[in-house]
Amino acid sequence: MLILLPDTALMSDMKSPNDPSPPAEDCAPAGETPACALPSHVRISEDGLRVTRTEEEWRARLTPEQFHVAREHGTEPAFRNAYWNNKEPGLYRCVGCDAPLFSSDDKYDSGTGWPSFSRPLDERLVGKQTDRSYGMVRTEVHCAVCGSHQGHVFPDGPRPSGLRYCINSASLRFEAMEASAVSAALEEWTASLDGGG
Ligand SMILES: [Zn+2]
Repeated sequence: MLILLPDTALMSDMKSPNDPSPPAEDCAPAGETPACALPSHVRISEDGLRVTRTEEEWRARLTPEQFHVAREHGTEPAFRNAYWNNKEPGLYRCVGCDAPLFSSDDKYDSGTGWPSFSRPLDERLVGKQTDRSYGMVRTEVHCAVCGSHQGHVFPDGPRPSGLRYCINSASLRFEAMEASAVSAALEEWTASLDGGG
């Protein structure tokens, strides 16, 4: 079932699937590749996702970089992405479906060059899968509403959660608002899901 699709841009902003702009690839400093700089290789089941789109719809909604990261489990360069140093109060929504995934209240400077959060806004909106690629065991993080890849979560974050959600800016859309308004935005989104069945 499709719900809440503010996709008036779908038809008006069609991009060629052969867009020549190169995807953001792993550009970590030579010699040391942080674990969150490596792309993910898990398969996310479409079963149970509330929002599904065809590849054409995804490509129409997303920029090539957003598509690469969110739909092909890519990564973006550290320190050269939209939100790693964003300190404005507000809400970070999923780029794929606008689900409210992270709050500025939980964002902290991890020093990695990617947006880092100590927890998601609502655990129910975030899915996780074990990612065993590159000889590591990592926990992949994706949007539980539309399946868009977000990043990974590592057990080296600040207290009390002790978690570091290392998220790609390309998977997020920041909406500036007072921090006190974030929970209302989450409630509004949740109510719209419930209302839509
Ligand atoms: Zn989503």
